[in-house]
Amino acid sequence: MGTKGREIVDLNVDELIELLNKALADEWLAYYQYWIGAKVVKGIMKEAVVTELLEHANDELRHADMLVNRILQLGGTPILKPEEWYAMTNCGYEAPEDFGIKKILEQNIKGEQCAIDVYENLMNLTKEKDPITYNMALAILTDEVEHEEDLQALLEDIQTTLE
Ligand code: FE
Ligand code: FE
Ligand code: MG
Repeated sequence: MGTKGREIVDLNVDELIELLNKALADEWLAYYQYWIGAKVVKGIMKEAVVTELLEHANDELRHADMLVNRILQLGGTPILKPEEWYAMTNCGYEAPEDFGIKKILEQNIKGEQCAIDVYENLMNLTKEKDPITYNMALAILTDEVEHEEDLQALLEDIQTTLE
């Protein structure tokens, strides 16, 4: 922990760490949802979808890394047990039950829309109070907005192909 670095955060730092840990739980669940989705998905345009899902999985893992680094910098302890992911998550986890491309894309779009809310809220909270966390949340939000659009565009392409 950087003592001065923590001091300049004009917020309740323990509460902020709690929110960062909740986002960390989301990122791990999102990572797994994408990664396992890429393994089980079936249907037309499968190759393009698998590539996109795996790219997004890697991005979610990178987001988890960013969150843990910030939690440690603030003197917090990141979630240590996977069982806490379920207790802490904002966005939950949707197991792919129907392996069809359309359903998997829809489930992941829902997850991205929730992630967009999470990082928008984090930005609102940290604005002018904690520029480091604000910048991190902005960087992640930028990716989540791109993820949502990528998936919606794929879904649209697939629906057009099916018509
Ligand atoms: Fe993410
Ligand atoms: Fe995402
Ligand atoms: Mg993408």
